Amino acid sequence: MPSDNSVLVIGAGIFGLTAALELQQRGHQVTVADPGPIPHPLATSNDLSRMVRIDYGADGLYSTLGADAIEGWRRWNAGWGRDLFHEDGMLLLTSAPMVAGEFEQDSYDLLTGRGFPLEMLAHGDLARRFPHWNSEYYIDGYFNPMAGWAEAGEITASLAQDAANAGVSVVTGFSAVRLLQEGNRVSGASAPDGTELRADWVVVAAGVWTTVLLPELADRMWPVGQPVFYFKPQDPSTYRPPSFPPWAADTPRSGWYGFPANHEGVVKMANHGPGRRVHPDADRVITAEEEALCRAFLSQSLPSLASVPMHESKMCLYTDTWDGDFWIGRDPERQGLVVATGGSGHAFKFAPVLGGLAADALEGVENPYSQRFAWRPLAEIKKEDMRYVGE
Ligand SMILES: Cc1cc2nc3c(=O)[nH]c(=O)nc-3n(C[C@H](O)[C@H](O)[C@H](O)COP(=O)(O)OP(=O)(O)OC[C@H]3O[C@@H](n4cnc5c(N)ncnc54)[C@H](O)[C@@H]3O)c2cc1C
Repeated sequence: MPSDNSVLVIGAGIFGLTAALELQQRGHQVTVADPGPIPHPLATSNDLSRMVRIDYGADGLYSTLGADAIEGWRRWNAGWGRDLFHEDGMLLLTSAPMVAGEFEQDSYDLLTGRGFPLEMLAHGDLARRFPHWNSEYYIDGYFNPMAGWAEAGEITASLAQDAANAGVSVVTGFSAVRLLQEGNRVSGASAPDGTELRADWVVVAAGVWTTVLLPELADRMWPVGQPVFYFKPQDPSTYRPPSFPPWAADTPRSGWYGFPANHEGVVKMANHGPGRRVHPDADRVITAEEEALCRAFLSQSLPSLASVPMHESKMCLYTDTWDGDFWIGRDPERQGLVVATGGSGHAFKFAPVLGGLAADALEGVENPYSQRFAWRPLAEIKKEDMRYVGE
């Protein structure tokens, strides 16, 4: 395929911006369009923090992709001249002994087998090294130094700037309502006022709004609301690494994970669970029950935070695919259309490598991930076969 196609990317979240940047660097003429501002206030890529980890249970594919992404984060930090990715490590705790077949032990085994220097917690380590945690309740776990968190909203803004600097035309004030088609070829998109943006290729990267433009995908991906909580303790310094790194506490079973205090002293935590299926434009508020569950978790696990007043809370939307895998592929039926979305609550960490996957899909280049993330038919999946992938 010629490497000088015009490409319209719809959506300037992490999928769209990384695709735009990579495609422009590969020689295409790229426009990325979003209602704006970037980051869009309702975009999933717009938050204080996102977890970056390579711990993916026995799933070696995501783990490999994660390790490549961490190399990329280090390069991006160097390029930005400031650290928007904080390599603070990650603490994974369990309230029962870790066992093979469960997320934590499988992650530990896979990663140590690949030579990563994980630190298994010995008796007394939790109380000594990470004193905010209830060390009577959490009896097992490990610390992975190759992990951390990313300042998601800041990074999204920086990537928009990087894209513009690389020659991408970054258009705000454009909300696509319809894809344009000539014969069997998608050729652009139009906005409510009739404005049209035309291109040889269209990449739809509209996050939870993807199925508004492509309703035929609504049986394979959908928006799911998950609660997020923010606290501002009086002395945030004790909620920073090394004694308070990013954490996951019984997460595949409890859903809870969180982050150290950021530069404004805000400590964030969230729950990765079944969530609530919602409309992308639904009110982003949490329920009293979700807040009560958060308080109960804190009382049991992080007692020093249990009585700290809530600074803020919100519902954040995943674009969940039915199988938890990303959706980065060409439409097998129409020409000129790629979809890059389906983050399923865990895509941000891969930002430095996502653009390459989308660009490969557009150029028809096979990579080790193409098949897993391809445009695929809905298939039967047994509950016991579902992997834990979240956050
Ligand atoms: C609570 C929560 C916690 C998470 N935690 C983690 C984590 O710890 N680690 C991790 O790796 N991932 C995490 N994720 C997942 C990660 O944040 C997402 O997978 C990723 O940000 C999704 O990016 P996106 O580009 O698909 O969507 P978005 O960021 O939502 O971007 C979509 C863009 O499309 C634009 N758009 C929409 N409709 C149109 C249209 N019609 N025309 C033009 N533009 C349009 C929007 O304005 C928006 O800017 C989390 C997600 C949530 C909700």
